[in-house]
Amino acid sequence: MDSSDLPGDLAKMLVSEEQIRARLAEMARQIEADYEGKDLLLVGVLKGAVMVMADLARELKRHIDMDWMAVSSYGTSTQSSGVVRILKDLDTEIAGRNVLIVEDIIDSGLTLSWLLENFASRGPASVEVCALLRKPDAAKVHIDVKYAGFEIPNDFVVGYGLDYAEKYRNLRGVGVLAPHVYE
Ligand code: 5GP
Repeated sequence: MDSSDLPGDLAKMLVSEEQIRARLAEMARQIEADYEGKDLLLVGVLKGAVMVMADLARELKRHIDMDWMAVSSYGTSTQSSGVVRILKDLDTEIAGRNVLIVEDIIDSGLTLSWLLENFASRGPASVEVCALLRKPDAAKVHIDVKYAGFEIPNDFVVGYGLDYAEKYRNLRGVGVLAPHVYE
């Protein structure tokens, strides 16, 4: 995306479409190597992970299964509380399966930490996390992220699946939303 595509609501672009594509390809090679000879179920967390899931899944040169989970984390529009409600549960039984959770972004880590506990209670063979973005300065709980795309500053970002009030999800890269939009 070049700067002429930027809506005035973005302060700046952070990660370009090209950078995302290249990083997802590297992550896919690592995932292929780690799960060689094993079954693999990708679980995307709706709605933000739709783009990561679509691009990562097509990068993987092997069989995979895909499922989706939708959760809502109570909190303000830009901060989660860790109190999570399931809006759409998995269609798949994950007992005995190798599950890879595909996330758009890990901010406080509270949503994912809840999800990991929830999944662990279903008896999977393994559960790992793949996240395109991570904000280390925002972490409230430690999460082991086996496949992490980019570490970004503690700003509210949009694009590539990430929204603000359901907008900006279709931006091809990730950018920092200008504070004036939500302040
Ligand atoms: P956490 O529980 O780690 O604080 O946040 C989890 C969810 O909050 C993410 O999956 C994402 O949907 C949303 N989120 C966290 N940070 C951002 C951000 O900078 N931009 C947007 N659009 N959503 C975010």
